Amino acid sequence: MIYTIDMLMNLVDSSEKNYDREIILKAYRLAEKAHAGQCRESGDPYVSHPVAVAYILVELGMDTECICAALLHDVVEDTDYTLEQIEKEFGNDVALLVDGVTKLGKVPLSTKEEQQAENVRKMLLAMAKDIRVVIIKLADRLHNMRTLQFVPPQKQRDKALETMEIYAPLAHRLGIRAVKEELEDIALHYLDPVACSEIESMLEMKKENREKFIEDIKLKILGRLNEYGIHPHIEGRVKSLYGIYRKVYMAGRAFEEVYDIYAVRVIVDTVIECYNILGIIHDMFQPIPNRFKDYISTPKPNMYQSLHTTVIDKEGIPFEIQIRTWDMHYTAEYGIAAHWKYKAGIQGKDKLEERLAWIRQLLEAGQEAEDVEDIVRTIKTDIGSEEVFVFTPKGDVKSLPVGSTVIDFAYAIHSAVGNRMVGAKVDGRIVSLDTKVETGQIVEILTTNSPNHGPNRDWLKIVKTNEARSKIRSWFKKERRDENIVEGRAELEREFKRNYMTMDEQTAKTFIEDVAKRQHFDSVDDFFAAIGYGGIILSRIMPRLKDEYTKMVKAQDAVVEPEVVSLQSQKYNKNTSGVTVEGIDNCLVKFSQCCNPLPGDDIIGFITRGHGVSVHKRDCVNVINGMKDESQRGRWINVHWDEATPVSYRSTLDIVAQDRNALLADISIALANFRVPIHELNARELKNGNADIVATIGINGIDQLNSIIQKVEKIPGVISVERSGK
Ligand code: MN
Repeated sequence: MIYTIDMLMNLVDSSEKNYDREIILKAYRLAEKAHAGQCRESGDPYVSHPVAVAYILVELGMDTECICAALLHDVVEDTDYTLEQIEKEFGNDVALLVDGVTKLGKVPLSTKEEQQAENVRKMLLAMAKDIRVVIIKLADRLHNMRTLQFVPPQKQRDKALETMEIYAPLAHRLGIRAVKEELEDIALHYLDPVACSEIESMLEMKKENREKFIEDIKLKILGRLNEYGIHPHIEGRVKSLYGIYRKVYMAGRAFEEVYDIYAVRVIVDTVIECYNILGIIHDMFQPIPNRFKDYISTPKPNMYQSLHTTVIDKEGIPFEIQIRTWDMHYTAEYGIAAHWKYKAGIQGKDKLEERLAWIRQLLEAGQEAEDVEDIVRTIKTDIGSEEVFVFTPKGDVKSLPVGSTVIDFAYAIHSAVGNRMVGAKVDGRIVSLDTKVETGQIVEILTTNSPNHGPNRDWLKIVKTNEARSKIRSWFKKERRDENIVEGRAELEREFKRNYMTMDEQTAKTFIEDVAKRQHFDSVDDFFAAIGYGGIILSRIMPRLKDEYTKMVKAQDAVVEPEVVSLQSQKYNKNTSGVTVEGIDNCLVKFSQCCNPLPGDDIIGFITRGHGVSVHKRDCVNVINGMKDESQRGRWINVHWDEATPVSYRSTLDIVAQDRNALLADISIALANFRVPIHELNARELKNGNADIVATIGINGIDQLNSIIQKVEKIPGVISVERSGK
């Protein structure tokens, strides 16, 4: 059947809705002009397709904007007209709808397994910022399915499969029953033609009996209900082809055993009447046990409401009865589209959002959670935010919360992929690891086979999903206990310092042992390790530790003068820093983080409030600026390196190199040859393709550092090596 503009306009005119005829005709004229000379595979003029799609949408009761967008839906994709022209002539809303439909058409939908299909459906919903886009797409697909006989066999199968896996469930989810059933029935014809003709012939054999049976039942029920003063609308039908197919061929029942081949629908005005009718019907016929379902008190997720019961008549033929109000009926038939068809009054965007809340609920994805804290965080971050849908290079779809990075994506594929990740490409271009992914992007993860490779601690600050975070943590937990202890101890020291908690070694030891015990750790090392891999989030327990510290200090020394630092009165252990402070014995010495002085550097000390003397390089920026402050001038003090310095100092190297395989390995081997401890080794990719490697090592002085720098500079690919904090 060729749909013409006259048919469409007749339908528009007979509709109860107030369509804008003029603009619909204008859209048609543009489509006709744009598609002039183009033909469908059936040989029909191309414009008959958009007209047919518009026709279906008028039947569904969609609005004028939708009808215009349907008429124009293939114009941008297949003709010389641009979106800008459509926007100029038909306004922003129509243009957005056309653009949305065009974009959905570009999503590759190859055959998917169940989970993948579910993700594709979610993605289609998510990509369509306006749900009308999906409804137009469904109407588009419905007309294409109706005319599928004209396309080559392989394409028939592909389209039928896609329809069965993606579009029919989407229609179901949106509650548009008529579209869903027609899509399924047509698709089934192409996917299992043999079974289809079997079912049809079984139904055919009894066609006369069947119609008489349904007619009898209808009259019987109507007669009885009239006696009670109830005058419902009753319709009877045979269930959809695919509905029967699912029961006979997929659930393996005998054709005769399919109870709901016959269905009678009773439609009334009020909910009270529904329950009354249920009672009357159970009195008239024998109900089959366990077949009663009350979807009125418990609606299906797609808003469907009805009472269902299956009963047997005197001849022993079972049939299903659905009892519902008119409101429920509209929702059951048109689902989300009922919003436009019957509730034209509510057109505000907010109301629409409310109606869509249930779709959003369906989009929730379960996340792995390690402990109660994680679960709480999961609820807060993952459920609260919306999702993005991203392709693997093979076309699989992964769903992630908005704000997820390529690292999250890698861990969503598999923890082994995440742990071996060295880089990522988005749509073919190399990106930095903190790049956030967006719906529709194709993301490829670059991995290494190097056995020493693992995730980087900094990733914990970058990733968005708890899945990635807990997988990274569990890698560190398993693979790096020693490192975790070192890292955890350092982190705790940093936090103590940040919070002005100074203690001598012995006090600190007891204090930390107490804390570890109270956190239920067997040893202090376990406690450090837990901090190291992130099992304990220090920022959460610090307030309590600080309280305890304050109490302890108050108990130890009731008289504390806050402004004056009396270094000598405090009992420090023998100074092991390797630095002597002029005029003060045994005072607490810390090396400043800003310049990390090393033996041999020209240094100066600054008397801090409360935690000893901090040592800077004389040419440190902070020293030069600090000296300008008159009020602080008295606090600068001369310090010297001790003669023998058996201590190890932390120094950080910033290495820039051309990125290549085994680069990190070569650098760590070079460092290891010096037998210096490596505290941290982080690499990240720079925009220009080079790698930036930051290595924190322990050294005994400036001479050793210089020879290490010389050695690293000679490694192939290394462009520059610099000491950080100069
Ligand atoms: Mn189309």
